[in-house]
Amino acid sequence: MISVTATGMKEVSQKIKATPVDDVLLTTYPEDSEPIPLKWGASDYQERGPVVPSKFKNGVSKHNCIGAHAGPYCIYHALAIGSNQLKRDHIPDFTNSQPAFTIPEQPSWFNDSDIVSMDPFGHLTPYLFDEVSKTEGVEIRPTIAITKATMQLLEMKEAVEKGELKVDGQIVVNENGDLNVSKIAVEPVWYLPGVAQRFGISEETLRKCLFEDTNGMYPELITRPDIKTYMPPIGGLTVYIFGDPQRISNPDKKIALRVHDECNGSDVFGSDICTCRPYLMFGIQEAVKEAQNGGSGIVVYFRKEGRALGEVTKYLVYNARKRGGDTADAYFHRTECIAGVRDMRFQQLMPDVLKWLGISKIDKMLSMSNMKYDAIVESGIEIVERVPIPDEMIPPDSRVEIDAKINSGYFSTEKAPTIEELQSVRGRTWNDV
Ligand SMILES: [Zn+2]
Repeated sequence: MISVTATGMKEVSQKIKATPVDDVLLTTYPEDSEPIPLKWGASDYQERGPVVPSKFKNGVSKHNCIGAHAGPYCIYHALAIGSNQLKRDHIPDFTNSQPAFTIPEQPSWFNDSDIVSMDPFGHLTPYLFDEVSKTEGVEIRPTIAITKATMQLLEMKEAVEKGELKVDGQIVVNENGDLNVSKIAVEPVWYLPGVAQRFGISEETLRKCLFEDTNGMYPELITRPDIKTYMPPIGGLTVYIFGDPQRISNPDKKIALRVHDECNGSDVFGSDICTCRPYLMFGIQEAVKEAQNGGSGIVVYFRKEGRALGEVTKYLVYNARKRGGDTADAYFHRTECIAGVRDMRFQQLMPDVLKWLGISKIDKMLSMSNMKYDAIVESGIEIVERVPIPDEMIPPDSRVEIDAKINSGYFSTEKAPTIEELQSVRGRTWNDV
């Protein structure tokens, strides 16, 4: 059994003459707490209850979630408090911030295994539980926000000019290729027993590794086994929907879907070393076409930069590749040398948002990833067709990446390249630029 006590940590702190911690609450314990009831998977929302991580007001004894709102941005919130730019007692005013459209309730919202990494009622909590917030004296904030927007992308303008996309006035609104889109931002809320189950480990192991490997970031992971939910300081996801969002859960309507993991260098800044932005643009274009045909087009964008290894690791790998002779056969090896693994995106939790939207079948999956495919199919969602990125959209220096991925199991309509062939697929060197 792991033991962490406030007294123990205080003694250590005094020993090394660190900042006094007398007025800091290091952790809480079940015996001093009376958390707001939260029953993940309950059959109605009132029985389920709100997710409350905040220790504001009565939250010290009544919070029922470990961690903080806003994912990684919780640190900026702390800085705003620390630098006196934000009052700790600021009460958010949610007037007019409610969802711009509704997502029909799904059976998956009412069990404890279909959705374990987001709160299915996260877009409604301040409104459903306003009374709880007042009577219990706790802060209840949304973890999901739903809005509408217009997108302007150069690739869509070109697609209209080439006649590949048609202006319909509804989804493609004009000759400029402007797109009408409905979008949903989601902060992660983990139901720890469910997350542990997805990874095939015990809840205790999950809590221990999260606590230890972040150098003790959330002691309540250890001291509060009675609290089952956790808001991790990681990036969330955004759902982009083309066409009427109400159609998504209608099994008679077709769905085209791209699940995209963030790659800032390509997505935003146009790097040609990978296929990320071209595949994203192809995904948006196909999603729009499906919506124009009476179905739904969806792009889910996950904040998992550089295969969730981060951009620093990614650039170190780029350097190792360019200095070591950038061939497709060594592509994954370079990442493994530095990061220890080739990928940390862990697609096990990814299908949750698809279940939340009520998707039961994907007619066109705009992804070649075998990991994404396996995770979706294992979650019980059918995939009818997989569509690889068209060859002409693959940038010159990214052949190394795409061939290495196809060889490792990525879906392709072409024959997977052999090891010998991979050795001859070479990326540009710095001297070639
Ligand atoms: Zn990329």
